[in-house]
Amino acid sequence: MPSASIYHLKDVLIGLEVHCQLTNLKTKLFCGCSTDYRRDPPNTHVCPVCLGLPGSLPSVNRKAIEDAVVVSLGLDSQVSRKSYFFRKNYYYPDMSKNFQISQYDQAGGIPIALGGGIEIQVNHVIRKIRITRLQLEEDPAKLVHLGPIDLSPYTLVDYNRAGVALLEIVTEPDLKSPVEARVFLQKLRSILEHLGVSDGRFEGSMRCDANISLSGGKRVEVKNISSFKEVERALNFEMTRQRSLLSRGSTVGMETRHWDEARRLTISLRSKEAEHDYRYFPEPDLVPIVVSEEWLKELASTLPELPDSRRDRLVKTYHIPSYDATVLTGEKALADFFEECAVLYSDAKTISNWVIGDLLRWLHEDELGIEASKITSKTLVAMIALIDEGVISGKIAKRILPEIIRTGKSPREIVEEKDLLRMGSPQEIEGVVNHVFKENPGAVQDALVEEKVIHYLVGQVMKATRGRADPELTNQIVKEKLEKLEETR
Ligand code: ADP
Ligand code: MG
Ligand code: ZN
Repeated sequence: MPSASIYHLKDVLIGLEVHCQLTNLKTKLFCGCSTDYRRDPPNTHVCPVCLGLPGSLPSVNRKAIEDAVVVSLGLDSQVSRKSYFFRKNYYYPDMSKNFQISQYDQAGGIPIALGGGIEIQVNHVIRKIRITRLQLEEDPAKLVHLGPIDLSPYTLVDYNRAGVALLEIVTEPDLKSPVEARVFLQKLRSILEHLGVSDGRFEGSMRCDANISLSGGKRVEVKNISSFKEVERALNFEMTRQRSLLSRGSTVGMETRHWDEARRLTISLRSKEAEHDYRYFPEPDLVPIVVSEEWLKELASTLPELPDSRRDRLVKTYHIPSYDATVLTGEKALADFFEECAVLYSDAKTISNWVIGDLLRWLHEDELGIEASKITSKTLVAMIALIDEGVISGKIAKRILPEIIRTGKSPREIVEEKDLLRMGSPQEIEGVVNHVFKENPGAVQDALVEEKVIHYLVGQVMKATRGRADPELTNQIVKEKLEKLEETR
């Protein structure tokens, strides 16, 4: 039997631990260092606190707590009225203090929020993925290796990232496939974007550890996966690896593995039996986080519209299919763009078709977000208007779209520059038809007896005019010419 059947025999359980930087904060979680470090040289956004120098003391960024609460509310989680920072002790160069200030859900620890969930839709099935907990912690420094981690002769450390506010969102093992894991992450990113607390597009701003087990095996944790596409790949790899072990009668032990993006495989880092004992204990330098009823209410009142309700509103307001609205709200900037266009142009479904169809395809091709591309609502709508006015055909529009996206030029300018104006005069088209008839005498004879061949001739005219000829008019002229030939036969 093919391996696919083995896959269906085994239940797959996947749970994610997602680390989201609160990128909208100006400063780090426990010090005043700027979080805007991405374009700067290594180790330039540091101070005694985030370098963990002896005698330095942390103080909490109030806005970080607010953002964490806002995310908790957005995920329907129960915000803890009182939660605590804990020290997670370990010896590794990414944390110079030899501990990370984090939160804990055991030994008297209470994280910032518990419970909640996100609804995801895969193949028209909607499922709720439960969230276990949210915890606020500091980002460790970034370790840089030369090539693959297990072959690198050295490790470099960059403390710019150390101490940036990180929200860890842990799910229950409710995900059933690698695709669901990717869709979950995309939905989570869109929620964070709508909440305005984190831009998931910043490099390394959303990182994920993925846990996966197959029935009959133990849970394997795959660490440090950088993008959503890679999460799906890593999980697919792990699924196959574990399935093949189990089907050969071997066991899958509890372990932590590293996803090697370049080689597209997971490498064992350590077995869970050798897992560190982190010796968690309450952080003595920080007071508990207390979220008062008033503070909670105030923050709840600022909660913006989130992707699910926005999707429903788009369906109601613009009469577009729920599928379209789901794709559009999958990215805040995309939904914003759609609504901007809808102000300028009344046929929302036409806009939606362009946005979730060709536009999105080109953006993916260029690995660009809509906000980073040069297209604007004005230029997209101008392009659609050119089609309506008969200046260009839909085909030409599809052809100039990537140039609008990449250069930001107006569609009319591109059309004129490239001489793509629609050929609407019958005389002009007739000239081309005559030429095509002369070049394809065989096809012309065939077209007299077989209707289908007419499409071929029309296609040749379109080709000769680079899609500029009006297709209906061309069709009509070709048919008339054939009729005349028929009469004279
Ligand atoms: P740890 O500290 O060991 O990583 P956490 O509680 O932080 O434990 O995270 C556990 C993660 O593993 C959660 O995302 C959870 O959903 C997931 N998980 C737990 N059991 C399984 C399982 N049997 N298969 C896959 N994932 C699991
Ligand atoms: Mg964990
Ligand atoms: Zn600092």
